[in-house]
Amino acid sequence: MSSSINNQYVYDLDRQYVFHSWSTQGSLNPLVIAGGEGCTLWDYDGRRYLDFSSQLVNTNIGHQHPKVIAAIQAQAGELVTVAPATANLMRGEAAKRILARAPAGFAKVFFTNAGADANENAMRMARQYTGRDKILSAYRSYHGNTGAAIVATGDPRRVPNEYATGHKHFFNPYLYRSEFNASNEEEECERALQHLRRVIECEGPGAIAAILLESLPGTAGILVPPAGYMQGVRKLADEFGIVLIFDEVMAGFGRTGQWLALDNFGAVPDLIVFAKGVNSGYVPAGGVMISKAISEHFDHHFFPGGLTYSGHPLAMAAIVATLDAMSAEGMVENARMIGESALGPGLRALAARYPMIIGEVRGLGVFWALEFVTDPIQKTPMPAPRMQAMKAALTARGLLTFVVDNRIHVVPPCIVNAEQVNEALGIFDEVFKAVAHG
Ligand code: PLP
Repeated sequence: MSSSINNQYVYDLDRQYVFHSWSTQGSLNPLVIAGGEGCTLWDYDGRRYLDFSSQLVNTNIGHQHPKVIAAIQAQAGELVTVAPATANLMRGEAAKRILARAPAGFAKVFFTNAGADANENAMRMARQYTGRDKILSAYRSYHGNTGAAIVATGDPRRVPNEYATGHKHFFNPYLYRSEFNASNEEEECERALQHLRRVIECEGPGAIAAILLESLPGTAGILVPPAGYMQGVRKLADEFGIVLIFDEVMAGFGRTGQWLALDNFGAVPDLIVFAKGVNSGYVPAGGVMISKAISEHFDHHFFPGGLTYSGHPLAMAAIVATLDAMSAEGMVENARMIGESALGPGLRALAARYPMIIGEVRGLGVFWALEFVTDPIQKTPMPAPRMQAMKAALTARGLLTFVVDNRIHVVPPCIVNAEQVNEALGIFDEVFKAVAHG
């Protein structure tokens, strides 16, 4: 790379020519990143960052894993692209490895370019399979930014995008800010299930194709569902003949310390949507794992869906190498161990030290949220400018996190070690002290 490349050059290039997601373009100040390795990133001027955001919660194996880079390079040398209608070695190997990590009874994989279009196709499959139209999904959810996926999304980003039809929403459990006036997990679970039953009854069970639910809602706040909730949703879906879709795009492939987040909850859906962690986003990919019953339906019924790059060889090679590396290097076990022994206890200790600003800590594995408040009794969310100032203070100290609303999501790669966790906890402590006493 030419020595004339520096932060200022890359920043100016971006600001002049690049149009960014989810932004008012004039207010942007993007961080310049030049390279990375493992949990570390750096810029052109030699500044290093500890990445506890995993970018958009996708680099589960960390940055630049050498085996995955080598597999992408080898595939590029052999065949960079081929039509989805062909049989391709890496596509078959990737599907086989993904299904090996799914619960029993899953038969096939449909590949897409990312998470949103994977949700589009899961909803399409459910509608085709049932002959029904409506999709029920949670208000506290994010399912992607394409036609139906953004309308299935519950969070307010849905509102300016509501062009698709047939989408209805319900409240999912969130004890800290209970919609059901519940005072413990058991009550929250029971009341959330009764609420869902009423929504199904009122929307007409015979009109509902699918319930679409993140198995552990991520962007909405890392809302670990109470014991029994996911099984309860499965029972309701069975009772009314509704397809159950779990969106594992953010929570899947190691993030919760299990291969899939659903492994924590003992409930099995009919379709599983994945993306991000399946190959850490090294080459864009997503897809739908399909149960035997739905897969067999399409043995005799036409599936009206497809994408030019479905099962793109470079993305498939990255999936094969990622899943092999995750198994060989015990990354899922590491995520669980770090969550239980270092990250979870460390974040809880911070919450105990700063009870006036941290209202709740929740999570699993390497998937944690700290909820910030200005009044812990009223649970008043910390306002956006203070959250942005906190994010800037963390970044200035070299720590990247994922800030949403009044929360910091602490979501490092699955390979993070205890030393890196301690470094991050030290930076949090310094910044939270200033916020609490400021
Ligand atoms: N589903 C969930 C649970 C997600 O978290 C996301 C992205 O954050 C998506 C779907 C959309 O994925 P993508 O941005 O790859 O389209």
